[in-house]
Amino acid sequence: MSALAKPLSTPPSPAPQSEWNVEAVRVDFPILSTRVYNRPLIYFDNAATTQKPLVVVDAISNYYLYGNANIHRGVHYLSEKATDAFETVRHQVQTFIGARSANEIVFVRGATEGLNLLAATLGRTRVKSGDEILISIMEHHSNIVPWQLLCEQTGARLVVIPMHANGELDQAAFEKLLTPRTRILALTHVSNSIGSINPVKHMIQLAHRQNTVVILDAAQSVAHMPIDVQDLDCDFMVLSGHKLYGPTGIGMLYGKGSLLDSLPPYQSGGDMISSVRIEKSTFHKAPQKFEAGTPHIAGVLGLGAALDYLTRLGMAAIATYENSLLAYATQVLTGIPHLRIIGQAREKSGIISFTIDDVHPHDIGTILDRSGIAIRAGHHCTMPLWESLGIVATARVSLGLYNTPGEIDHLAETLNGVRKVMGL
Ligand code: PMP
Repeated sequence: MSALAKPLSTPPSPAPQSEWNVEAVRVDFPILSTRVYNRPLIYFDNAATTQKPLVVVDAISNYYLYGNANIHRGVHYLSEKATDAFETVRHQVQTFIGARSANEIVFVRGATEGLNLLAATLGRTRVKSGDEILISIMEHHSNIVPWQLLCEQTGARLVVIPMHANGELDQAAFEKLLTPRTRILALTHVSNSIGSINPVKHMIQLAHRQNTVVILDAAQSVAHMPIDVQDLDCDFMVLSGHKLYGPTGIGMLYGKGSLLDSLPPYQSGGDMISSVRIEKSTFHKAPQKFEAGTPHIAGVLGLGAALDYLTRLGMAAIATYENSLLAYATQVLTGIPHLRIIGQAREKSGIISFTIDDVHPHDIGTILDRSGIAIRAGHHCTMPLWESLGIVATARVSLGLYNTPGEIDHLAETLNGVRKVMGL
């Protein structure tokens, strides 16, 4: 631990090596042994996207090098192999999130596309003028704007659950805002900006009493804790592969079987139809009904490798390690003069947003960058959240399974010097 990070008393000790061999994990991620500006890379931008283990890249390149074929419609060996591999990943996703059936898993481009699919299809079937769609103030833009557009189209009203200053949603307000008019509750599981873990299971139970359909945005939770959709009882859930140590351009939409089947198609074209006549077409059942065109086959196979990888490490072990890192980082950062952590919910995932007095977050980001430390600075796609707090931007550190206490020490050391670099 560096001398500069001293205002601390004794920091909590991170998980013992015997429980989590972080050095062994790091070997799986070649990028972590590269240098930027001739400094060892320290990657703390995991909420934006995670790095990829070699097994994920291998799965993608093996497909293109030795298994490339289109799926579902080929009668030849390669096509059948590719189809099998693709559909196996659907079962892996089912197991990973505890869905009842693989047919409840739709492959999409990412959480954003999943949410747009839901806004478009629920919008056409379940939302009319006078209805309400309930979101929270801490939603990512991708869980705000599709609902705004839907409200404009239908005459429904967007209603927002406020937050307490500590970063926890105001549950009393939520209970008041939830009414028989609430058709949809679209809620993030974990805030990408301030790390709050929302009490979604309880909120889902309350919403179901009003017959409200609940969509969970699990983009920020699924890589960091075990998730069981049947236990949570959400109706839909959206996920992004690239935040799960998998490839970009692939995501998942989970939906309860009967609900998915009740929705109309989103995009249309090849692969989602069972017959096409000029007068009228008929469609496959879910999930194929929602997978028009050639999918991102390599992305799905890479995702499968990522899920295998995470399952081998164990989601509970990942959560335990990351929680210890979060506790350590919070304590270390709290000891830095002029630094203010925004969002101190009692239940938090490994995301720390902060400001330093008189220094713009972008300057914090640039100074850290020159020390080899990658963080995010800005509004993190949650502008309404910051507006509600009267803050324009923050710096954000987001942790992943390969981060180490030593990296946090280096972060603290550099942050301690930020005001000096700015001449303050
Ligand atoms: N929801 C949350 C909470 C997110 O953090 C993000 C990505 N930052 C998204 C949705 C959108 O995910 P994607 O860009 O992968 O579609």
